[in-house]
Amino acid sequence: MKYRTILLFGAPGAGKGTQGKILGTIPHFYHCACGDVFRNLKMESDVGRVFVEYSGRGQLVPDEPTIQLWREFIEGNTRTGRFNPEQDTLVLDGIPRNIHQAEMLRDTLNVIGVFYLCCNNLDNLVKRLQRRALKENRLDDANLDVIRQRLKTYDEETKPLLSFYGKEIVHHIDADQPPVKVLSDILGHMVKVHP
Ligand code: ADP
Repeated sequence: MKYRTILLFGAPGAGKGTQGKILGTIPHFYHCACGDVFRNLKMESDVGRVFVEYSGRGQLVPDEPTIQLWREFIEGNTRTGRFNPEQDTLVLDGIPRNIHQAEMLRDTLNVIGVFYLCCNNLDNLVKRLQRRALKENRLDDANLDVIRQRLKTYDEETKPLLSFYGKEIVHHIDADQPPVKVLSDILGHMVKVHP
C-alpha cells in the first residue's frame, strides 16, 4: 500500500517547515520534515555523524542512509499509531530531495499534490535563514557560505524534481507573501486535491 502524500517543495527558507507544522495539526494530516528527523538523531550515532558532516557543508546526506532513516521513522510512527496510513495524508517536507530519492520512494509514495513555495526574493530567503540560525541554533544557517551552497544544491539537485512529478500536480504558491496568505493559498488547492 502506498502512502497518500502531499509534498511541500521549495528552497531552504521558503517556509516549508512553518506551513508543514500548521498542516500537520489538521486531523488526518501527518507532517514529516526530513531535516527534523536528522536533527533528532544522537549526533554520536553513525548517521548522526554523517548528517553533521554533510549538512555543515550545505550538501545533501547520501541517499541510502537518508531513505533508510526516513523509512524507519515512518514505520516507527505507524507502529505507535501517530501515523495511520489508512486514514492519514502524509505531508512531506524535505524529502524526496533529488530524482534518485524520488525513484527510491516511487513504490512507497502516492504523490497527489506538490506545493511549490516559490520565493523570488533571494534576500528574503537569506534573511529568513539567518534569523532561524539565531532562533533554532542551526549551524547550517549561521554561515553565509553554507547558505549559498545550500541554495546551489537546491537549484542543481532538488529543483529537477518538479519535472519528475509533472506540472499537472504541481501548484505554485507565492512564498514571498505573509505566512497566513501562503497557508490560505495552500489550503485553497488542498481542498481540491484532497479526497
Ligand atoms: P532546509 O529546509 O532549510 O533546507 P532541512 O531541515 O530540510 O533544511 O535540511 C537540513 C539539512 O539536512 C540539509 O541541508 C541536508 O544536509 C539534510 N537533509 C534533509 N533532508 C534530506 C534529504 N531528503 N536528503 C539528503 N539530505 C537531507
